[in-house]
Amino acid sequence: MAGLQVCSVLVTGANQGIGLGLVRHFLGMPNPPKWVFAACQDPKGQRAQELQNLASKHPNLVIIPLEVTDPASIKAAAARVGEHLGGSGLNLLINNAGIMKLNSLDNETLEDMTQVYTTNTIGPLLLGQAFLPLLKKAAQGSPSSALSCSKAAIINMSSSGGSIEEVYLWNYGQAVSYRCSKAALNMLTKCQSLGYRQHGVLCVALHPGWVQTDMGGAGSQKVGVSPWQVPQSPCADFPWEGRELLP
Ligand code: NDP
Repeated sequence: MAGLQVCSVLVTGANQGIGLGLVRHFLGMPNPPKWVFAACQDPKGQRAQELQNLASKHPNLVIIPLEVTDPASIKAAAARVGEHLGGSGLNLLINNAGIMKLNSLDNETLEDMTQVYTTNTIGPLLLGQAFLPLLKKAAQGSPSSALSCSKAAIINMSSSGGSIEEVYLWNYGQAVSYRCSKAALNMLTKCQSLGYRQHGVLCVALHPGWVQTDMGGAGSQKVGVSPWQVPQSPCADFPWEGRELLP
């Protein structure tokens, strides 16, 4: 993130794991954003304690309530962010919130498929729609003609688990709903990139590498990076498996 210069960024799922790591990183940049919006389900709850501590030290950090499966909550979050920004736009939307169920092909269920797809795929779609006016505003206000994260962008946090070509570590964890939701998220990102390009908004999907989080697990200390290291050293391992399973 060395060359990144953003005025405003919103990170979903920001109370723990990779989301919290990103928030910390933005706040610690030499030229931190004017606004870092950290969205989480329960800003006043125990799970947001670390964010609350950070907010007491960093006036540019604003905690925004957001349930990514609830369209009304998404719209309310966009309205709140818009109020804080005044007349300016939002440079960067990072759709990081996600869930995983370790179900196999045989025991996958309608309920889990629906919940995981709603969270991991429909959430980023609706967030893109709700924040598009603010992203467009940022793009219009930028002197640069090229697409970039510093101008206006949507980053969707995907996973190599959603790669149809790799079907990485299938024998160790099928996680069908998670794989399908991330494959669909990749296609959504392609659609967003085609649709939003004309507005000057860059859209990309990222695999963060294996990161030791609630989702990624901390079983092996050997390979997965801590969320505080995310921007420096992405690796290509599959989230819920330790390195010892790999050749
Ligand atoms: P964590 O489980 O540590 O964090 C997930 C975050 O998403 C939490 O803040 C959680 O909130 C939030 N979240 C879940 N459901 C919702 C919801 N309905 N509304 C709002 N927020 C929600 O996961 P990671 O930090 O490991 O993962 C972050 C992203 O990176 C995910 O999209 C994941 O798929 C992806 N990824 C992670 C990898 C890894 O190795 N860790 C590897 C590849 C991809 P709460 O705490 O309140 O539940």
